[in-house]
Amino acid sequence: MDVDEKKRFENIVAAKQDFFSSGRTKDLSFRKEQLGKFSVIFEKHEKEIFEALKKDLGRCQSETYLAELLSTKSELALLCKKITSWSAKRKVTTPMLHWPASSYIQPEPYGVVLIISPWNYPFSLSLIPAMAAVAAGNTVVLKPSEYSAATTSLLVKLIGDYFDSSLIEVVDGGVDETKLLLESKFDYIFYTGGPAAAHSVMAAAAKNLTPLTLELGGKSPCILHNVSNLQSAVKRIIWGKFFNAGQTCVAPDYLLLRFSEKKLVLSMIYETIKDFYTASPKDSRSYSRIINLRHLKRLSSLLQDGNILLGGDFDEESLYFSPTVLDGITWDSPIMQEEVFGPLLPVICYENISEVINELKSRPKPLALYLFTDNDDVKNQVIGSVSSGGVCVNDTVLHLSNPFLPFGGVGNSGMGAYHGKAGFDTFSHLKSVMERKLGFDVDFRFPPYENMPSLLKKLLAFIG
Ligand code: NAD
Repeated sequence: MDVDEKKRFENIVAAKQDFFSSGRTKDLSFRKEQLGKFSVIFEKHEKEIFEALKKDLGRCQSETYLAELLSTKSELALLCKKITSWSAKRKVTTPMLHWPASSYIQPEPYGVVLIISPWNYPFSLSLIPAMAAVAAGNTVVLKPSEYSAATTSLLVKLIGDYFDSSLIEVVDGGVDETKLLLESKFDYIFYTGGPAAAHSVMAAAAKNLTPLTLELGGKSPCILHNVSNLQSAVKRIIWGKFFNAGQTCVAPDYLLLRFSEKKLVLSMIYETIKDFYTASPKDSRSYSRIINLRHLKRLSSLLQDGNILLGGDFDEESLYFSPTVLDGITWDSPIMQEEVFGPLLPVICYENISEVINELKSRPKPLALYLFTDNDDVKNQVIGSVSSGGVCVNDTVLHLSNPFLPFGGVGNSGMGAYHGKAGFDTFSHLKSVMERKLGFDVDFRFPPYENMPSLLKKLLAFIG
């Protein structure tokens, strides 16, 4: 173990703890002022943000704007608008049994928060939780991914330039550094990434009984069933699948089609991919690259499964992996046992929807579930019987850009949620407070106890 590094991390955490203890972060005007700084970063440094994402993922400006800046800015706008009301006491009813009294919920910050973020949307997945944590009055240690090195360096610089390091600081490091950091005691941990590392994050949190949120991934199914406007459905599926070259936690992982529609849908998929990325996606400026060689090799090993209907080309030097469609896949195929997290779309055909529902119910709960259908019965049946973090009907990915919908997984896809008010509340302990007046008491509550007459029991049940 690197003793100096451990000491350095302890000092980083201690500085945040001291600043939190000073009480400054609880001041509403202080928090509003800090949110304003994020806004200045977004306005003044847009170009550097685009450049960093281009370096990390070969991603074009428009995709970066949609995926990283737009969502982060709209979260910030909502936080700025609502911070006063979300911070205020939330009055609740007091049952007559407790009268005279008043009751309310007082949101209070946890203290020092650790945010661990991944590489696929390294800007928004770092800053959306960080902004919510600051808005709620916490101090923050932010640990972005070592894989998205350009964005991590930019975050170190921007956060360092604009904020007091005792309020928020970015720590650059890989798995070893994260493990060392996790040895310090935090008041809340917010982790976004794969389920494997989540085990080690949760074990570290358990040592100090630190509450945590886990934003994980999983295999998000996409069902196409009885749709009249197939063209529109296919366009939306292909957009969600190949956005950021498939490296999206809520990307449709695989497509479920009725046998009867297979031929038509596959030909539409083929045409749509050509329309979006040309016949040579490698030369299209709209198509991103794979994050690193390790992931490219992992993806290429998935090609051994089924038949390649389209794509299947990759290039280790430029980290290009073509949009790929596979059929001849079954539920037992190796590609169906792990999250694809890349530009490969396995297609499975089915006869009837109950077959699909039964299979999905037997599998780990996904982060998102997509259903394209005109049939309300099928819609209600699927939403009602398959558990998932979220659902989007007749589109893909867009549900998570609505800040009024909490975003998070369930079971294997995570625990807890954020975005909008859910984010503010995630970083707040919702403290229950009852205030009573002294003097008025009914004797039956104090010892020595007498047997209660049944009329009194009935009265208590009625007013309680
Ligand atoms: P990653 O490798 O960047 O890891 C995520 C973070 O965890 C990084 O900061 C990394 O340094 C740290 N880390 C890695 N191993 C660790 C360990 N053993 N102990 C402590 N920290 C560790 O990202 P990844 O895991 O490859 O991310 C991809 C996964 O994340 C996919 O499964 C994807 O679905 C999921 N994801 C989920 C969301 C969401 O919002 N739910 C968003 C993006 C990605």
